[in-house]
Amino acid sequence: MGFAEFLGNEHIVAALRGALRSGRVPHALLFTGSRGVGKFTLARMFAQAANCERMTDDFCGECATCQRISLLAHPQRLIEQGLVERGESADAATVERVPLILQSHPDVWGLVPDPVRLKSPVARPMLRIGQLRAVQRAAYFQPMGKRRVFILDGAETMRWDVANVFLKILEEPPGSATLILTAPSPYALLPTIVSRCLQFHFVPLPQTAVERILKEKTERKPAEIKLAAQLAEGSAGLAIEMDVTAAAQSRKNALRILERAAQGQGFAQLFADTSALAKDRQSSIEDQIGVFYGLLTDLLELTCKLKEPVLRNANLAKELEALSKSIDSAWVVHAIAGFDELYAGARRNLNRQLGLDALAASLAQAPSGGLERHF
Ligand SMILES: [Zn+2]
Repeated sequence: MGFAEFLGNEHIVAALRGALRSGRVPHALLFTGSRGVGKFTLARMFAQAANCERMTDDFCGECATCQRISLLAHPQRLIEQGLVERGESADAATVERVPLILQSHPDVWGLVPDPVRLKSPVARPMLRIGQLRAVQRAAYFQPMGKRRVFILDGAETMRWDVANVFLKILEEPPGSATLILTAPSPYALLPTIVSRCLQFHFVPLPQTAVERILKEKTERKPAEIKLAAQLAEGSAGLAIEMDVTAAAQSRKNALRILERAAQGQGFAQLFADTSALAKDRQSSIEDQIGVFYGLLTDLLELTCKLKEPVLRNANLAKELEALSKSIDSAWVVHAIAGFDELYAGARRNLNRQLGLDALAASLAQAPSGGLERHF
């Protein structure tokens, strides 16, 4: 039990333990890094260590406080419970008045983007103003134990006006509380927020570490563990959740779309492909775009003729190499720009189909691949 269970990013663990030991605990921490690298897990462990009844710079996992806080390790259950308590078809005002707060111990709150279920559905889960106001009120209460810890997961989903409420808390930090924000990158947040936080960047885990975690936490067969670790690109959380067959298939599908685009097979087929993507409600558009980014990164390495390219999609090496012969790096850069635009559109809740169609049109007009050049 304790921090020893956390694999990877040892320097961050050491820094947090040092802060707890010295009693000089920062008021605001920002954990950045891609999804599933352990940001929320380490934030929860920090909350346990800050409040453990037996230890000061680590946690026992056995005392009543540790046990209660450990319920945050499975946030999904608490989220479902919170949504049910609020009423499945709450209206917008109720959502703000009864904010979704994951609390298994009085001093430790988890805030996650609210996957609100309104009658008119809101597409994007986000941290809402009601949640932030609740934190603002509670942050100044004296802790019942040692330290109040507020974990704001997915801080990048805060709208900017909401972020300003949050900024007020950071400007007058409460004495015995620590706010921990998690976000994929500091650029997704207001610079004024980032500058007030002590920032830690989580790097992806080595593939062997992810494999070790999968061996411990899942019942998967060795071959499946290897593939999952490879596809998850250093993110243990992602690897655990991953439906390996579906993930491998979605990479193959995406590769096929890129192949067709590179061959200039015209709009009709591309639109058919992208509308299939748009209908796929199982995965978010961000996830789908992420798959393309992974493939395009590999293609960029291959078309730039790096001596020893380290492919993210090693299992598709043959297909990627073949494709890289019919395109050049300008084509890849153009395609990446297209996906950047699609991603920005997705963040603005742009209609998925329209965004994909625009992308297909842009890919079809990309600087010609080798095939076209020969004709
Ligand atoms: Zn304890």
